[in-house]
Amino acid sequence: MNMHGAYPDLFQTDVTRIPGVGPKRAVRLARLGIDNVAGLLFYAPFRYEETASSVDALAAEGQTSVVAVVSGPLTVRLWGKRSTIYAPVRVGGRELRALFFNQPYLRHQLSVGRQVRITGRYDPKANTLVVSRCDWRRDELANTGLIPVYHVTEDLPVSALRSMVASALRTFGPQLSDDLPGGLRERFKLAPLRAALDQLHFPADAEALRQARRRIVFEEFLKFQLRMQGFRKWRQNVSRPLLHEDALRRGARAFVEQLPFPLTRDQDNAMNAILADLAQERPMHRLLQGDVGCGKTAVALAAAAAVARAGGQIAYMAPTGILAAQQLEEARRLLGAAGLRVDGVFGGQSTAQRQSVASQLADGTLDMVIGTHALAAQALQFARLRLVIADEQHRFGVGVRKMLREKGREADVLQLSATPIPRTLALTLHGDIKVTTIRESPPGRKPVRTQWLRPNEEAVALKLVRRELSRGHQAFLIAPRIDSDPEEAGVGAQSVRTLHERMTEELAGWRIALIHGAMPEMDRDRIMQMFAQGEIHVLVATTIVEVGVSVPNANVMVVYGAERFGLATLHQLRGRIGRGVAAAECVLLADPKTAAATARLRTMVDTQDGFLIAQRDLMTRGPGEILGERQSGLPQFAVGDPIRDLKIMEAARDVARELLDGDDFWLLPEYGRLRAAVLSEYDQHSDS
Ligand code: ADP
Ligand code: MG
Repeated sequence: MNMHGAYPDLFQTDVTRIPGVGPKRAVRLARLGIDNVAGLLFYAPFRYEETASSVDALAAEGQTSVVAVVSGPLTVRLWGKRSTIYAPVRVGGRELRALFFNQPYLRHQLSVGRQVRITGRYDPKANTLVVSRCDWRRDELANTGLIPVYHVTEDLPVSALRSMVASALRTFGPQLSDDLPGGLRERFKLAPLRAALDQLHFPADAEALRQARRRIVFEEFLKFQLRMQGFRKWRQNVSRPLLHEDALRRGARAFVEQLPFPLTRDQDNAMNAILADLAQERPMHRLLQGDVGCGKTAVALAAAAAVARAGGQIAYMAPTGILAAQQLEEARRLLGAAGLRVDGVFGGQSTAQRQSVASQLADGTLDMVIGTHALAAQALQFARLRLVIADEQHRFGVGVRKMLREKGREADVLQLSATPIPRTLALTLHGDIKVTTIRESPPGRKPVRTQWLRPNEEAVALKLVRRELSRGHQAFLIAPRIDSDPEEAGVGAQSVRTLHERMTEELAGWRIALIHGAMPEMDRDRIMQMFAQGEIHVLVATTIVEVGVSVPNANVMVVYGAERFGLATLHQLRGRIGRGVAAAECVLLADPKTAAATARLRTMVDTQDGFLIAQRDLMTRGPGEILGERQSGLPQFAVGDPIRDLKIMEAARDVARELLDGDDFWLLPEYGRLRAAVLSEYDQHSDS
């Protein structure tokens, strides 16, 4: 989501405008998802390295920070208010010059032999460090600067990214103005944006980094909270016709009675809670969470049947096109028997088909339409949209809000999520949402046997894979990256590309395909479809398959570099297998380097209880070490992490509430940029 709506210029400025970035590098940046200047400025390092020694720090491009000793007399020039001071300094064993602009008072401090920490840019040609910050406090001298490490691709080394970021900061830094009004910054002691971004990428020390992150994360979270709460407020005061509770109950019962199985007790409770909400005057906003396969969809369809019976229409938003197609098939089967008319809107449809769906929605012939989040963008009109079901909407409701804004403000919302989060966290994030959790799974689920092996035991895993393939089953092979990182080696650091190449030989004779997020959605869907139909035996994939179609015949999964995935992701991935009649096997190949990673692997081996896993996940998330994490239950931010930064989220929530309830936010010019960032989504016509 676009969290920085108020510096639109930089979002529209091509990266090639950054000195040192040509078309080639632009293409490589695009593969990291960076396609404009703002994207690069907010591309946060995922960890930092301590500078090995001050001398090494000079080799870094961009901002650097070293401890130096003044080694000779200064050359001072003063004219009017301006000044320059040249100081010969020694850094480690090396002599260089430090240049200070407009800090004339320093001439009294920089006596020969004095130790100082200087931060700035080192120009090797001139052997000069242009100082932006100078300090001689003891703790400053003890600290070493931190060097940023970014996620990169094979053809883009970290050092190149560092220099591009530094260049972008130099060139565009002056254009960065603050969305946060001065008063708010003062109250929470937040640095100006430009300084914070400088320190986020090239922190002088750990404390400077902490403050920089806090500043940036606060702004991200505040905009998020303003958006969420603003939306809630906007919905609060609708008046809508009441649905008959009788009709609702009869509709649900008719649906449940023709199911081939009885609802579990949890499902039944969830359904009753929803039915009660649907009859209220106020629109519902409920989160229904529970493990993959616990039967959320069945409950959601019961709610749909109820609403249709009471005279409303339903929109069902699935996370991907192929899931929407699968869902349509299932909904037609189950709801059709209960007398509902269901259709879908998809990418591959002909104009005629789509128009037919559109007109039947508009005249009320159709009860329910199924599609992806793109449903919101379609030129669809509903005769009486009453319920929006949002299944695994990773983007935390962007699509849902758009849907309600454009197709019906009064509709009830039921969000489905397979990544349970604690109720208190859900309330902090969503505001006044209601939460229902399904804990028990339907009877008869087979556990997935899970083992953790070392990367050098890959042969054991492949033997298992071969065995299952020869029995006519299918396999998933998961790797953490699309491209491999030249700075890391070993089986664990595998990219899907190299894995796919290797497996083409290892598993010769079987049909193997590769699937990852950088591929066009059409291709992904086609490959998934082929896998689902058994035309592909082995699917080499990134976590893209985490949310996916059900392929009951796939009963074995090997996860490479499993220490790099978060628990929620591992659990979701494992949920892809064990959906059929055959026993399922999951092998985690991992060489964990931290206690947290080891704990995650143990948890995976020990339990399949999604709720327990989700709880442990929240407790053991090691900052920055998890790769490609997509917490389906949590919103995504450029820099902030809603769990690690929960305190900041709570502060942002309170400030947002205060702002929205007062007049200042709506009236005063200093809030203009925040207002614009929040209101911008009301003007967007494409989905973002
Ligand atoms: P979720 O959406 O939570 O992942 P689904 O609703 O898709 O789960 O259910 C997973 C599978 O279990 C489906 O095949 C569904 O038909 C089946 N199922 C759902 N509820 C029950 C139940 N109470 N008893 C037996 N099978 C069930
Ligand atoms: Mg489901």
